Amino acid sequence: MITTPEPQGARARQTRYFRARNAGLRYLKVWHIELGHPGGEYSDVGHHLTPPDRHEPTLLTRVLNERTDEFRGACLRCEWEGKPYAGTGWKEGANEAIEEAHDHVFPGWRDLPAMPRPKGRWDMADGQRLLHQITRLYPEGWAEDGGPLLVWPAPRREPHEPPRVNHARYTIGVARPAKNQAGPGTETAEQKVLF
Ligand SMILES: [Zn+2]
Repeated sequence: MITTPEPQGARARQTRYFRARNAGLRYLKVWHIELGHPGGEYSDVGHHLTPPDRHEPTLLTRVLNERTDEFRGACLRCEWEGKPYAGTGWKEGANEAIEEAHDHVFPGWRDLPAMPRPKGRWDMADGQRLLHQITRLYPEGWAEDGGPLLVWPAPRREPHEPPRVNHARYTIGVARPAKNQAGPGTETAEQKVLF
């Protein structure tokens, strides 16, 4: 394994991970950005040498042992890292790590209203509708800054979705809407959430 001190921060860790991988070392045990999460591209001479203009959440992972993966939140701009979460179930601990990363970048996100989760695969209309709602219901600039979208319900073990093309934000499932919102499954739930 690599003997140099462990670097801090998502970008530095991602570079270290790929150097270990290129060198044929046991790279899966090195912290790296989870596949599909922001900043996961690779450069051997340094990853995202220029930090993004703003703090940006992402997810780190590593293999702890045969049955356990570890996850922790991280930031693409600074060296902030959350505490590690481990579990033996599939992706167990990943959601807690993602949520902590959002505490770092978007304080207060947990108090925002949740939107009803779109059924099935999201289409363009869903994306437009949700963006419109974020703009109306979330703090000014939230959509532009890549603040998360909260949806409910959150099926057990449903992983939070990383940003993707045409939806530049995490989608975070919450167990139930905030206290002043309707419960899931009611006819008027959406209206109550919206107004
Ligand atoms: Zn940061």
